[in-house]
Amino acid sequence: MLIETLSVFPAMFEPVMSTSILGRARQAGIFDFKAYDLRDWTHDRHRTVDDEPYGGGQGMLMKAPPIFEAVRSIASQGPRPHVVFFTPCGAPFDQRTAERLSHEERLLFVCGRYEGIDERAYALADERLSIGDYVLTGGELAAMVVTDAVVRLLPGALGDEMSSVDESFATGETGGLLEYAQYTRPAAFEGAEVPEVLLSGDHAKVDAWRRANAIERTCRWRPDLIPTARLSESERGRAAELVERYHGPGYSEA
Ligand code: SAM
Repeated sequence: MLIETLSVFPAMFEPVMSTSILGRARQAGIFDFKAYDLRDWTHDRHRTVDDEPYGGGQGMLMKAPPIFEAVRSIASQGPRPHVVFFTPCGAPFDQRTAERLSHEERLLFVCGRYEGIDERAYALADERLSIGDYVLTGGELAAMVVTDAVVRLLPGALGDEMSSVDESFATGETGGLLEYAQYTRPAAFEGAEVPEVLLSGDHAKVDAWRRANAIERTCRWRPDLIPTARLSESERGRAAELVERYHGPGYSEA
């Protein structure tokens, strides 16, 4: 997979893209990464990428022409990229979206700055994504978040192929839940003991405990995930009880 970004701060990316799992995956050729400077597609002495908004208002907007020129020129170098624009007005990014993007051959992330981007530039977008209901100063961090979430799903990126399968939000056969609680040594710490079943060596019992624990934690902290989680009939009944216990009767109808 090739991941490319277009922004006015391309230098922000390299430390993240060369560290830890991303760095190793890149070195191993699991993905390649390039950061382009939007100013390279400007034609004035000041390399201007922004201008005042029509209609007045605070701040500056990124101009459409350099973005058009840049995206077209980058896209012409190889297979057509899937183009993502980052904006708080985009669809919420989630694990399902990360899984979908991980099947793309080439991704091009366009990062805004200032008060955002001239609306006409979005004609280039295959989709608009937001990483949450808050406003960042620029799309670079959003592009890094999405790159991280996508690359760790690529075969070989984590080393252990199974590690991303039963994680929080994973959409596999039993998925859509938060991950179960995990513990490592020591077995007792500050008066808190590791649940005995995890020390039993009985894998079936451990699996059953983890499944029940994942359901319980999801009902407690993210009851909004329960309607779309993959649960058996008996698990769904248990989840309904737990959601009511933690959030009161009528939560699901709210
Ligand atoms: N005026 C815009 C608004 O109210 O929607 C916010 C512009 S923001 C200051 C500048 C850039 O940061 C955006 O163009 C976008 O690329 C990026 N950005 C900010 N918040 C984001 C978010 N939650 N998700 C994705 N990108 C975001």
